[in-house]
Amino acid sequence: MDLIPIVAAGRLWLAVGATEAADLRLTQIAPGIHEIRLPIPWEEEIVNCFLFSRGSQVDLLDCGIQTDASVAAVLAAIEEVGGPGATLRRLVITHIHPDHFGAAGALKERTGVELFMHRLEVPMVHPRYLELEQLVAEVGHNLRLNGVPEPDVSALQNASRAMREFVRPGEPDVQLDGAETLELGGRRLRVEWTPGHSPGHICLFDLDDRLLFAGDQILPDISTNIALHPQSTPNPLGEFLESLDRLLALDPALVLPSHGRPFVDAATRVARLHAHHQRRLDQIEALLGEEELSGWEVAIRIWGERTNVWDKRMALQEGLAHLQLLAVERRVTKLADSGGVRWRRSQAEPTG
Ligand SMILES: [Zn+2]
Repeated sequence: MDLIPIVAAGRLWLAVGATEAADLRLTQIAPGIHEIRLPIPWEEEIVNCFLFSRGSQVDLLDCGIQTDASVAAVLAAIEEVGGPGATLRRLVITHIHPDHFGAAGALKERTGVELFMHRLEVPMVHPRYLELEQLVAEVGHNLRLNGVPEPDVSALQNASRAMREFVRPGEPDVQLDGAETLELGGRRLRVEWTPGHSPGHICLFDLDDRLLFAGDQILPDISTNIALHPQSTPNPLGEFLESLDRLLALDPALVLPSHGRPFVDAATRVARLHAHHQRRLDQIEALLGEEELSGWEVAIRIWGERTNVWDKRMALQEGLAHLQLLAVERRVTKLADSGGVRWRRSQAEPTG
């Protein structure tokens, strides 16, 4: 086995070489912690999930999508790290997006694992993956309010429908508020509630080795999608940026993201993410000028006309998340009535 050392904060973690990992997909991060890399077919991407083992007892953070191959890879990894007959005890979910939560139901059925997730994720599961019609209607209404032209509404409001195929929801056994200390594989991990990407998104922080399991909150190569939509919190970008600062204050030795490779320099990455969003906020404020625009008009001016429905909807909802933070900060004025939501630059307020 080809071992590549990952050195962080004077400590040494060993990782399996990338060439071998392509087949095995299992990497040791620290004693008793392994990363498994699972495929996400529709984006030719990988989601990283983490196994915490003590003897033959294994706990898991995130579980990949629901396909037979992905579930089989998780079950094989559990035996690989825990030995033949290893048992899966706890499954913690960072958030309910398909690549993190999809296989939860299948794993509960197969292993009886206890499922932990933040309580703000729980009410989103049924409308998103089981009884979709009400949410699809709400999304359609929201798209119209934000200026999406009628010919685009139907495609955009139905864009998520296919995702349910990759999710078999499991009922949570433990609902988290954040700030709990969980024991996984004999380690103590503190739950850090980091709303923004999803209302009940959580990270886990290893209190002994200062490892930050960051979920989708801090990714090394891409900027996390932050969207304002009917299931989001009311100011997701503001919450996301605050969450970044809280995580940075933990002074993590190593960041283990859900996508991309582990990295040590959290401060530089967090600074880049702040700068990226600040630039976007300034750009949107500047383009509003004195004009009153819908969210859709803003999205087209920033990102141009997109052809892919996913890209269109993400551009709109990402633009709305920025507009909302600008409105919270009083940099733009948000006008809302039953006919729609429009935005314009704020006039200077009289002082005194
Ligand atoms: Zn996600």
